[in-house]
Amino acid sequence: MEGKAFTDLKGDASPLGGVLDFAEKHAWKVVPSIFVSALPSAILSDDAVEQFWNRFEYYWNSSSSEPVDAIYLVLHGAGVSVSFPDVEGELLRRIRNLEGATNLPIFGVYDLHANFSQVMARYADALIGYRENPHFDAKESGVRAAALLEKSLRSGIRPKQYLIQPPIIWPPTGTASASNPMKRLLQRARQLEVIHPEFWAVNINGGFAFADSADTGVSFSIVTDGKESIAKESLEELNQIAMECCEEGNVLEVPFEKVLLDLAQSDSSNNRKGPVILAEPSDNVGGGAPGDGTGLLRLLLEHKMDQSAVCLWDPDSVMQLSQHTAGSLVALELGGRGSNFDKGPVRIECELIRVSDGDFELEDKQSHLASVCGDRFDMGQCALVRHAGVTILLTTNRTPPMDLGQWRHVGVHPEELSFIGVKAAVAHRRAYDPIASANYLIETPGPCQSKLSEFPYRHIRRPVFPLDALEAVKMLSSSGKEIAKLVN
Ligand SMILES: [Zn+2]
Repeated sequence: MEGKAFTDLKGDASPLGGVLDFAEKHAWKVVPSIFVSALPSAILSDDAVEQFWNRFEYYWNSSSSEPVDAIYLVLHGAGVSVSFPDVEGELLRRIRNLEGATNLPIFGVYDLHANFSQVMARYADALIGYRENPHFDAKESGVRAAALLEKSLRSGIRPKQYLIQPPIIWPPTGTASASNPMKRLLQRARQLEVIHPEFWAVNINGGFAFADSADTGVSFSIVTDGKESIAKESLEELNQIAMECCEEGNVLEVPFEKVLLDLAQSDSSNNRKGPVILAEPSDNVGGGAPGDGTGLLRLLLEHKMDQSAVCLWDPDSVMQLSQHTAGSLVALELGGRGSNFDKGPVRIECELIRVSDGDFELEDKQSHLASVCGDRFDMGQCALVRHAGVTILLTTNRTPPMDLGQWRHVGVHPEELSFIGVKAAVAHRRAYDPIASANYLIETPGPCQSKLSEFPYRHIRRPVFPLDALEAVKMLSSSGKEIAKLVN
């Protein structure tokens, strides 16, 4: 988005919408540049990075008639392209080296799943991370970072960033802010901000395990105008806490049979109210998986899970179904095309319930999805089909399951179902927890499964938990060898 489309985002549910709102209230004169976003997926092409950069440079050069006071960036923080394992770091380096930008304050906001790099720490003054996962505070965090920039502009104080990278990676399932270890770390971060008024922000970064880079993993950063030694002391403390509870963050999926047993046992003691959420992290759309995995769908069909529903990304089937009328029985080959881990398409005959457009307004403007797309999401043309007791929502666009509006838009009332298959790890919980009677992480094959030792990492820093034995990682730590890098 550029030009008017960029400034029109003012006030919407995204971080950029919040920052543009803040800018207006504080009489900032904004020089808009370019905003691009994508759902997590495979490695970026270098061309995509260069296209972004060319447009950014164009706006920078065209603003040169009036001096710019500061630069504000809305980042994610875990970008990897073919040649740049740290896309955000590379962009920050280039921005810092622009003519006229060498001495400017560079502030910004980023996602809690950033693989925060040493280069990001070096070239920005202050980057502020989300504190919640699901990210219902994305917009608020953008505004918080803008307020800190305002503070810097008014006071003339330029803070510094310090970073520590513990030898830990956690799968997305282990990065929920309501559970340990993130909960404990985030609480300590808030306390440190109170104890040390010179800290502008203490960031707890869960990291993004499915990127393979030297900076992949958990990290902590402190933005401060105080003494380096105090910041380092606090970072060491956070590092220590993370090492103590790193196993708690290695949250793994369980076999479906175990879940069925558990449900059978709990059923006898109390009647469930609301659907059971069967999350399938291996096909986590928000984590970069295709969303067309058939693992959970196969389990629902095989175990005849009555009154169940799942959403699948399958543009081919939607197109095929658009030729039919409601009530038709259609032989379909569902999903299974997007990943080598999958068994391939499920061939079944389904009854077509309806075909509809998929552009819906978010029910929850603070949902994780709003941090990605603002107020609306477009699933593309959709088809709702049914086979036995299993309802399947087929979409043209990959759709992260983070807002119940997705179901109601196509005429399904999620709270009336018995089981809902959800292709996510944590981000769905804000939407689904209020209606759920139980929540399970189901083991299926897929590119975002939580057992990280299954993946052929090549660039990640080693030793690292859980790829290397915890004892080995801790032994290195206690023997004094530097495994946690600290930079500013
Ligand atoms: Zn995230």
